[in-house]
Amino acid sequence: MVKIPENRVDDCRIADYWDSLDDLKVKCRLCPFNCLLSDGKMGICRGKQNSAGTLLAINYGWTTSLSMDPIEKKPLYNFHPGTSILSIGPNGCNLKCNFCQNYHVSQSEYPVSYLTPMQAADTALNHGSIGLAYTYSEPLIWYEYVRETSVEVHRLGLKNVLVSNGYINPEPLDELLPLVDAMNIDIKSMDPQFYKKVCKATLAPVLETVKRAAKRTHVEITNLIIPGLNDSEENFTALVDFIADIDPLIPLHFSRYHPAFHQNASGTPIGAMRKAGKIARKRLAHVYLGNVSSFEGSVTLCPDCNGIVIERSGYTVTATNLSESGVCGNCGAKTGVVC
Ligand code: SF4
Repeated sequence: MVKIPENRVDDCRIADYWDSLDDLKVKCRLCPFNCLLSDGKMGICRGKQNSAGTLLAINYGWTTSLSMDPIEKKPLYNFHPGTSILSIGPNGCNLKCNFCQNYHVSQSEYPVSYLTPMQAADTALNHGSIGLAYTYSEPLIWYEYVRETSVEVHRLGLKNVLVSNGYINPEPLDELLPLVDAMNIDIKSMDPQFYKKVCKATLAPVLETVKRAAKRTHVEITNLIIPGLNDSEENFTALVDFIADIDPLIPLHFSRYHPAFHQNASGTPIGAMRKAGKIARKRLAHVYLGNVSSFEGSVTLCPDCNGIVIERSGYTVTATNLSESGVCGNCGAKTGVVC
């Protein structure tokens, strides 16, 4: 780890997915914003900058954190349960959600330290991690670094995990997916107006990312419930139908919101969490309630015999009844859990 130099631009890697235009302008093609940037300008995400007609990945290698977390904290409940994963993340984000629960790292300048891809992968190996999680803020704006680091992680026989808002164009996503072992993708609402007003973005690209990712890798979904904004029965039903139509074994995590950043709505009542859980269990096998101390919100059941296959207390796995290939210890059915 080294200290941040004053001028990061000179050390930067040239970005992937951009076009050179007249008058030293560039167009970034990484995410659906497709930012058009004049010389010297930064993209919405603050991770890319036009330097004399070349788009630079100015966030390459710079991480706001380096810490070992339970995999359950990502949250990924059905991917190598009970293991720990080294977690890193960039500064900045392409979305501007007014309720951001991590706004210190996503929406403002935050201290960063430098790790080469090989240093990051080696650190994961040396600390007994199952791999690297790219998380805390949006890893897709760290695209060049995530891709190159993921190659090193796989070279060491470890796993790559992305915790993402899913806001990326299809072409770069498809190039990245073969390197990704698991993703948790946020679907913040099924209402396009919510994305427009609250996140300054659009819903359709997120849903497209979920569909593409679910074909190639293990996917879990998170939905942060904000009272009055996305907690209607219609919204929950639309979310559940969308996921179940792809695969009813995809886990859905409902997460409790706390007032943060520019959002003052009061915290999510337990009742809203339970209501969402009840609707979701009609069509999905694995529904979890985050930040709620309830047995039914943290236990993993076999989708076939309904027997308990994983019990948890907080982020700690306390009991499992699964084979190494993730089949139910009671009835032998496939559970969708990757062990
Ligand atoms: S990745 Fe950043 S610079 Fe590129 S289009 Fe998206 S917000 Fe703009």
